[in-house]
Amino acid sequence: MTTPTIELKPSSTPLSDAERAARMVNPGFGRHFTDHMVTIRWTEGRGWHDGQLVPYGPLSLDPATNVLHYAQEIFEGLKAYRQPDDTVAIFRPDQNALRFQRSARRLAMPELPVETFLEACDALVQQDRAWVPAHGGEESLYLRPFMIATEVGLGVKPANEYLFLVIASPAGAYFPGGVKPVSIWLSEDRVRAVPGGMGDAKTGGNYAASLLAQAEAAAKGCDQVCYLDAVEHKWVEELGGMNLYFVYGDKIVTPTLSGSILEGVTRDSLLAVARDLGLESVEARVSIDQWQRDAEDGSLTEVFACGTAAVITPVGTVKRSSAEWKQSGGEPGEVTLRLRRALLDIQRGVTEDRHGWMHSL
Ligand code: PMP
Repeated sequence: MTTPTIELKPSSTPLSDAERAARMVNPGFGRHFTDHMVTIRWTEGRGWHDGQLVPYGPLSLDPATNVLHYAQEIFEGLKAYRQPDDTVAIFRPDQNALRFQRSARRLAMPELPVETFLEACDALVQQDRAWVPAHGGEESLYLRPFMIATEVGLGVKPANEYLFLVIASPAGAYFPGGVKPVSIWLSEDRVRAVPGGMGDAKTGGNYAASLLAQAEAAAKGCDQVCYLDAVEHKWVEELGGMNLYFVYGDKIVTPTLSGSILEGVTRDSLLAVARDLGLESVEARVSIDQWQRDAEDGSLTEVFACGTAAVITPVGTVKRSSAEWKQSGGEPGEVTLRLRRALLDIQRGVTEDRHGWMHSL
């Protein structure tokens, strides 16, 4: 099976410069979409075919399309940043391509070749490069590759047809008014994922499963939920859309990949960036009681969450049913801010890309 080349069929009526500019002022997250999208089909026996770049627009799906009933769906999220020389570069897209393959395997879907994933992202960013925010701030163009089962029928089985798409959306600075800590609800009853389940795959069902706990956290005055392992309800896993790091002086610790944690690209990058900054970075199991104890005795100096959307978010207030405490006095910690700056500087092309992470167009 050969890698499809993407046929360019651009829009004859893209938005005007003024219309686009209006959508790029305080764009928020995922509210406006660029002029184009990429689509590639997969059919049993034929493989990947019909790669196209077409105007962004609605899909027409039969009501019995498999994905609408049984959620055979996977997605990715990654960002393109404008560089100081006005070129555009995507942060570690190969890692997202590999995770997309792992997710596909878990959902019994066909694996998209890494080079096709990259070709699709490149084609869209190239075509819609005017949508990549200017260099200077923390704005970026967020890319959302995804794949759905398109076979029509209500049988529960891996589909024999799929559609892969990439869409893109300008993303504003996550903290336009300066970095602000989030508050966390430690959920000791609801779980996000179970051993042998899909927690390490990026599939819509995991996010549907997180919504109720998220709403409960909001009712308790918290911004985000932290999930624990599903068996002992003891080991810290991750947030609904971000991984966690614990800072002990000049050592940072992130929970070991348990099989039910999503393997974040930001999480992985920070293990290396921390070492670049002379910090020790390790993966280890962290229990909820250790978290509370170490926060209370002061040995745990900072906690932060990390992911593509926010890069790094400090954790302020932490609540569980039996207790509540504040990390680093509820202020962003020094190590958190140093790591955040170091990673953003690589992404924005301000410091040397010593790990070869930026994929230039
Ligand atoms: N965990 C979950 C559940 C997520 O949805 C995300 C966002 N993709 C992350 C962690 C962070 O992953 P990344 O750094 O690759 O964005």
